[in-house]
Amino acid sequence: MKTAEIMANLAAKHPGENEYLQAVQEVLESIEEVYNQHPEFEKAKIVERMVEPDRIFTFRVTWVDDKGEVQTNLGYRIQFNSAIGPYKGGLRFHKAVVPSMLKFLGFEQTFKNALTTLPMGGAKGGSDFDPVGKSNDEIMRFCQAFMQELWQCIGPDQDIPAGDVGVGGREIGFLYGMYKKLAREYNTGVLTGKGATWGGSILRPEATGFGALYFTQHLLQTAGKDIVGKKVALSGFGNVAWGAATKAKELGAKVVAISGPDGVCEIPDGITDEMIDYMLDMRASNRNKVEDMATKFPGKAIFTPGKKAWSIPCDIALPCAFQNELSEDDAKELQANGCWCCCEVSNMGCQPGAIHYFQNNGILFAPGKAVNAGGVATSGLEMTQNASHISWSAKEVDDKLHFIMQSIHEQCVKYGTQPDGHIDYVKGANIAGFMKVATAMLEQGII
Ligand code: GLU
Repeated sequence: MKTAEIMANLAAKHPGENEYLQAVQEVLESIEEVYNQHPEFEKAKIVERMVEPDRIFTFRVTWVDDKGEVQTNLGYRIQFNSAIGPYKGGLRFHKAVVPSMLKFLGFEQTFKNALTTLPMGGAKGGSDFDPVGKSNDEIMRFCQAFMQELWQCIGPDQDIPAGDVGVGGREIGFLYGMYKKLAREYNTGVLTGKGATWGGSILRPEATGFGALYFTQHLLQTAGKDIVGKKVALSGFGNVAWGAATKAKELGAKVVAISGPDGVCEIPDGITDEMIDYMLDMRASNRNKVEDMATKFPGKAIFTPGKKAWSIPCDIALPCAFQNELSEDDAKELQANGCWCCCEVSNMGCQPGAIHYFQNNGILFAPGKAVNAGGVATSGLEMTQNASHISWSAKEVDDKLHFIMQSIHEQCVKYGTQPDGHIDYVKGANIAGFMKVATAMLEQGII
């Protein structure tokens, strides 16, 4: 494979789309060796086809804010790859959303979904709508306007969106309500992350964080370590961080930091159940300020403005917020403060320099597409329940999630174990996902 040539072509076709190019580069670097052992992939130009989305929808979303002023945003849905199933992936509402961000996320999603063992292709969508400071009514009006365009692109056997940053259960409710009204289709399987009484799966809200901790447990066990009593620093306080904090505490770890765009809250005695519950209120408030935790729990949560979670001494770092949130300097600071493991929960949460630093300095590291796949896997379980008009108990869903995370870990070990015995989880996850998607593409001909 001519990685440099493919990257140069891609950069020329998608100028300035740095996040997208970064995600592709990371995958190509790690699959190169395996790819070269399969001339049939080269002949069918699998990589050249795989790095481009199947199609992109872009649309204008116009809505009226609480002051009566007309607002216009951009909406997108990127259907990236359908080799192993219908398009599947979340919607991100964030002011920084641009096509490059959604392309990187759709590309990652394709590999992640392949790892889940379930038949789901990759997609991503969203808008540059900024939920910060918006009222509930404004969120509803925006979601309805967004769905007025999106509904024509999606369907339960075609493309199934879900949540991501800025899109949780509330937004999925508003989106689903409008979908039904427009499409006159009452198939709940068109969106996942729904409410438990109208087709949602029990444990879907917790699934990304729970799955991440199950994966972390397997990784630690394989390395001969145990999570009990370990200090965990995590970033963010949204749905993913909430699930991760809940499961980390349940497994006996001590969550000593959470963070937000405004700074970090250190929690020296470990996060409590009340604090974990309060994370949900903080998200619902749309204020996007972690300082609120310190205001609510004075003396127990100590806020420092402008600092990241990576400045707090810990054993295990769990980035749970946004892409590129952990830099090489952060990686160095973490190690200097005693951290020896980083499981990336956010999509592409670590910058390439940070990943290389971890890998070259003996710090256990696993990438987001493996660690956070429990979220979309449980979306897949939600689709199965919807298609068969049943609903599983929490135990049934949790057992299946656990099994899937174990299987993802096994795939990483299978494809990532190096001649010297150490496990390269980045290679393992990328090669395992790639082999599945590439083989399916090959078998389906040149399309
Ligand atoms: N946004 C989540 C992810 O990055 C979940 C996607 C889904 O459930 O479809 O995997």
